[in-house]
Amino acid sequence: MPTYKVAIVGAGPAGYFAAQALNNSADNDRSFAIDMFERLPTPWGLVRSGVAPDHPKIKTVSKVFEKIATGENFRLFANVEIGKDLSVEQLQDRYDAVIIATGTSLGKNLGIIGENLRGSLSAASFVPWYNAHPEFSGVDVPMDSDTAVVIGGGNVAMDVARMLALEPKELDPTDTADHAIEAFKKSAIRKVYIAIRRGAEHAAFTSPELRDLPKLEHTNVIINEDEINAAIARVGDSPEKDVKSNLDAMLHIAQNQKTEHDRTIEFLFFHTPKEIQGNNQVEGVVFSTPNGEVTIKSGLVVTAIGYNAIDIPGIPFENGKVVNSDGRVNGNMYVVGWAKRGPSGVIGTNKSDAAAVIELLNQDLSEPKNKNDIAELLKDKKVVTQKDWEAINAAEIAAGEPLSKPRRKGITWDQLMAHAEIYFF
Ligand code: NAP
Repeated sequence: MPTYKVAIVGAGPAGYFAAQALNNSADNDRSFAIDMFERLPTPWGLVRSGVAPDHPKIKTVSKVFEKIATGENFRLFANVEIGKDLSVEQLQDRYDAVIIATGTSLGKNLGIIGENLRGSLSAASFVPWYNAHPEFSGVDVPMDSDTAVVIGGGNVAMDVARMLALEPKELDPTDTADHAIEAFKKSAIRKVYIAIRRGAEHAAFTSPELRDLPKLEHTNVIINEDEINAAIARVGDSPEKDVKSNLDAMLHIAQNQKTEHDRTIEFLFFHTPKEIQGNNQVEGVVFSTPNGEVTIKSGLVVTAIGYNAIDIPGIPFENGKVVNSDGRVNGNMYVVGWAKRGPSGVIGTNKSDAAAVIELLNQDLSEPKNKNDIAELLKDKKVVTQKDWEAINAAEIAAGEPLSKPRRKGITWDQLMAHAEIYFF
C-alpha cells in the first residue's frame, strides 16, 4: 500500500483539520505520513493565541488536535520557519503534497489620519499580547484614560471590548498572560465603545457571542433599543436566520440593560471612523454619523476590521490570501483555512473547508515520491517535536495548577524553549 508524504505548514486549526481529513481519507489503497511545520515553538495557532481567555470552552478543540498529533503517522516540527529554515521548494520537492495553513495574522489598516499614534493598535497586536504570544509581550497598551474605542462589528471586536471591560479579577483563573492581567488590573478604562460602521442588521457578530454578553457579572452592556427596532423594521418580515437571531439577541440586551456596574460596554451603530486625534498619543476618535461628526475622547483605539496573510517566499499571495482555485495553488501545493479564503468563519468552519481540499488533493495524487527525510535538513536547528511540545504543555499546566488556572503560559521564546529543553539531549 503506498504511503504519501504530506507537509502541512502551520499548526493551527486549519492545519490540524487538514491532517484529520487526510487520516479520514486513508484506506486500503493509500496511507499518509504527515509532517506539520510551525514557526512558533508551540502549536494550536489561534486556539492558543487568538481565542479569548475568558472563553475556555472554545479551546477544548485542542484535544482533537492532540489526538491527531499523537498518531503514529504524525510528526511536529515546531520552531521551524518555512521561507527561512526550509524553503517552500524544498518541501515541494520532498513531499507528495504541501498544504499551506498559515492563516492571516496581519491586521488590516483603516488608512485614516492618526492611525500610527501611540495608543492606536490593531487587534492583531492586542489579542496576541493578552494571549502570551512570544512576539507580542512588549506591545505598548496605554490604558490610563477612562475610555477605549474598539472599531469593527465582528466577534474579534467583541472579544477585545470584553477583555478591556471585564473586572480583571475574572481573568485570574484563566490562561491570560501574566503581564496582561497585571496591566488590566492597573487600567483606568471603565467605558468601552464598540463602533460599527453600519446598522445592527449588518453587524458581523454571531448570536452565541451576543447571547453571552448579558452573563458578564461586573459589566454593563448598553445597546440603544430604538437602533435595534429600526434595524428590525429595515429587514422586514423575512430576514435571514442569522440576522434574525443576532437582532433578537441585541434586542434582548437593549431591553435588559444593567447600569449598576462601574464598567460598561456600549455599542454604537453607523459610526464610520474618520480620524484619530492626538499629538504624541491618541486623544480621541472622530466618526462620521448620520447626525454629523462625533468625537469620542479616548486614549486607546483598537481596530478589529479583518486580517491579511503575511507573505512567505515561494507562495503566491494576492489581496491578503494565497492565490488558489478551490484550495489548489500550484504543482503539489494546496491551501486551507484563512490563508485560502480570508479571515472568516469560526474554528469549526475549517473542518469542512479542509475536507473539501483534501478530496481534491486525493484526486491529484499519482505515485508516491519516497524522497529523503526532511529531518536531515534540520540537523542544526532546535526543532520542537511533539514530545518537546508535550513537555512545554505539561510545564505550563503544572505552573497553572496552584493558581487554579488551566495553564500559566510561557511569555518569551526562551521560556518556552527552556520548558522543552530536557528533551533536546
Ligand atoms: P469580521 O467578522 O469579518 O468583522 C470585521 C468587522 O470589521 C465588520 O463589522 C466590518 O464591517 C468591519 N470593518 C471592516 N473594515 C472596516 C473599516 N474600514 N472601518 C470600519 N469597520 C470596518 O472579522 P473578525 O471580527 O476579525 O472575525 C474574523 C472571523 O473570526 C469571523 O468569522 C468571526 O466570527 C470569527 N471569530 C469567532 C469568534 C467566536 O466564535 N467566539 C471569536 C473571534 C472571531 P463591514 O461589515 O461594514 O465591512
